[in-house]
Amino acid sequence: MDELTVAMKARDFVAKCGAPTLPVSVDVYAQQIGGAVKVEALAEHEDAWSVRLPSGRYRICVNCAHNSRRQRFSVCHEVAHVALEISADHSAPSWSYTRRPPGEVACDVFASELLLPYRLFKPRVDAADYSMAAITALADDFDASVISTGSRFASFSSDLCAFVLSEGGKVRYCARSAGLRDNGAWIRPGMVLPSDCLSARARGGERPSGSEDADPDQWFENWDRDGSLYEDVIHLDQWDQTLTLLWFDDEDLPPSTGDRRQWEERTQGLRELDGVLPWPGAKKRRP
Ligand SMILES: [Zn+2]
Repeated sequence: MDELTVAMKARDFVAKCGAPTLPVSVDVYAQQIGGAVKVEALAEHEDAWSVRLPSGRYRICVNCAHNSRRQRFSVCHEVAHVALEISADHSAPSWSYTRRPPGEVACDVFASELLLPYRLFKPRVDAADYSMAAITALADDFDASVISTGSRFASFSSDLCAFVLSEGGKVRYCARSAGLRDNGAWIRPGMVLPSDCLSARARGGERPSGSEDADPDQWFENWDRDGSLYEDVIHLDQWDQTLTLLWFDDEDLPPSTGDRRQWEERTQGLRELDGVLPWPGAKKRRP
């Protein structure tokens, strides 16, 4: 099942649960599958598990040691297992993005759609400023983690924007807007944070006073285009996690140096400089 199919199924599921409130009620989602949520003592790294009772109803157990936002996500994840009819494989730790089985990733996608429903979230993304403060405020409104909120913020952004999660000073995960993906901007997982960037300095103990200019060459692999990039950051000392928001100020990025002449010809109607000025009015027209 691809990500889009999962997202569409989740949106149908949300619609069946009635008009969503803000923040959404995860108990309503559980009820929709005939489930009830219990908060219990589980193993330290276990998020949740669920079981089908002889009555046909479900019991969803979440870890009492986790904070309420993580518990809310876990409930939605368990609801996803039932709604998508995917059996649980919780052998790999939930924080491992690379080792997570495809079924578990699908349930995470479904859970994000439940917790931050497209219809409520997308208009808020469109209205928000580009800053980590704006993402934190959205996370508070939706009672979701800053990481989930930031990832979806970038994914839904109509502009050129990325949200990067780093741990121990290395990039672990990056969510990009459609525009940024179309422009081929790629941040490699495993990359060490650029040494003098705002994110690395925040990790080093500096307290950022706001967003800063960033160098696209340092962040994006094989990048040879211009564009004004900005960076904002929150560093969480407790887990050595660095959350970075990157965004371009441009609506469209100029193309790479190699393609630039073609691009200029096309957009400005200029012929290659051959010493002869183009005749006024002789500009090529597209058929
Ligand atoms: Zn699972």
